[in-house]
Amino acid sequence: MQFKPVIGLEVHAELATQSKMFCACPVVDSTQAEPNSAVCPVCAGMPGTLPVLNRRAVEYGLRVALALECEVAPMSIFARKNYFYPDLPKGYQISQYEQPLARNGRLIIQTSQGERTIRIRRVHLEEDTGKLTHCQVNGESYSLVDLNRAGIPLLEIVSEPDLHTAEEVRLYAMALRSLLRYLGVNSGDMQKGVMRVEPNISVRLSDSPTLGVRTEIKNLNSFRALERAVAYEIQRQSEILSRGEEVIQETRGWDEAQGKTFVQRTKEEAEDYRYFPEPDLPPLIVDEKLIAEIRASLPELPAAKLQRFQLQYGLNAYSAGVLTAEPAVAEFFEQTARACQAASAKMAANWISGELFGLLNQAGLEIEASPVSPTALAELIDMVARGEINQNAAKTTLVEMFVGGETAQTIVVARGLRQISDADQIAQWVQRVLNENPEQVAAYYKGKATLAKWLFGQVMRLAKGRANPQTIQEELEKQLNARQPPDAP
Ligand code: ADP
Ligand code: ZN
Ligand code: MG
Repeated sequence: MQFKPVIGLEVHAELATQSKMFCACPVVDSTQAEPNSAVCPVCAGMPGTLPVLNRRAVEYGLRVALALECEVAPMSIFARKNYFYPDLPKGYQISQYEQPLARNGRLIIQTSQGERTIRIRRVHLEEDTGKLTHCQVNGESYSLVDLNRAGIPLLEIVSEPDLHTAEEVRLYAMALRSLLRYLGVNSGDMQKGVMRVEPNISVRLSDSPTLGVRTEIKNLNSFRALERAVAYEIQRQSEILSRGEEVIQETRGWDEAQGKTFVQRTKEEAEDYRYFPEPDLPPLIVDEKLIAEIRASLPELPAAKLQRFQLQYGLNAYSAGVLTAEPAVAEFFEQTARACQAASAKMAANWISGELFGLLNQAGLEIEASPVSPTALAELIDMVARGEINQNAAKTTLVEMFVGGETAQTIVVARGLRQISDADQIAQWVQRVLNENPEQVAAYYKGKATLAKWLFGQVMRLAKGRANPQTIQEELEKQLNARQPPDAP
């Protein structure tokens, strides 16, 4: 049987405003701040308090909606989503429901199969809940409530079920995170829970016109977990259907250690939220002027930057994708490319996504904190482009720049790394190596071609790694050909 997976995503993103959605409490990092240190009667759900809408949260929501090419509703409505849970002191969450902030957008993603357009169903504003911590003290179970997070502005972005593979799901979530970071509305720190992704997954027969029964997976806090969970769920549902059984509509969790999803809640237990319009908030009116202002203030977005990097710098799609995923990386690359005199932008791209990323990774640093600046890196790769140092010496130099903060010039001079291109000097080294290794040379002539590499390595060793590899190569070929016995194959 041929199955086709169908996946739609609900993404919750906290908006990085100064204050909460409906009160003046500061938005604090829930993983750092003292519990319940950013709470007031409004977000603690005291009777008699009234919510006041945060203007900046609306603007941030609009930035996202416009960047996703959505239609913005001239009027949207806040509603009460009623349910009881200890992290929700009001007994309801304020959320947009029937009339969301925006609808009908799209996000284009680059996959290994090419470009794909994922339609966005809706983008709406709501508020986050508090956080529960379950723990044991002296053998007794406690659940601790922290309301610092309660009332933080939240944006929900819901896609159409346009995704079909676990890879696409990961790429869509990554593209969305990248967009949120470009727009400056969310840090993208999934470990801290500021962006939460819930995939809805179903599988149907390839030629079936209707969608299959779906499950929804909660609590995925990394792209890796997301991709694995979706792949697992596709497999699980396919097996159920292959056996002629039916998938049950339910909410499932992800067990990272076991690499499995498990049942959390079935459809029978699904709540009826009794939505009704929030009586304490007027309808949200967004006029054309505000939309125009926000549209004009949007930065160059990842998709546009990706196109431009390919056209302007001659990068391939993959390389341009790597360099545009993070705004700070794109900026670092452009500054480096601008500062290069002899080296090409492509070369700058390779050094950043290769050597520099490696060093940053090892040191656990973001590019903003790179000890090597764009101009310092440009100076280094210009020296490579001019043939003043070879690739290996440049790598050594970069490591020293990274650790010690000195310039490429200083390190190259101090360590004597300058490349030797003097043909006479190199010819002497080649001659010496050939004279000192008659057995290997003989074996080479007998057809062991790999020995050419070994001989090359010997010459480079004599040169303490500083010789121009091109010159060695040419000289080695020349001398080997000149010595070649007449009866060699
Ligand atoms: P809710 O989960 O609140 O009921 P929706 O019904 O709007 O909300 O669906 C949420 C997400 O599930 C959307 O991203 C939608 O594309 C996706 N979805 C809906 N039906 C299916 C299905 N049969 N298979 C896969 N995804 C689906
Ligand atoms: Zn408050
Ligand atoms: Mg849902």
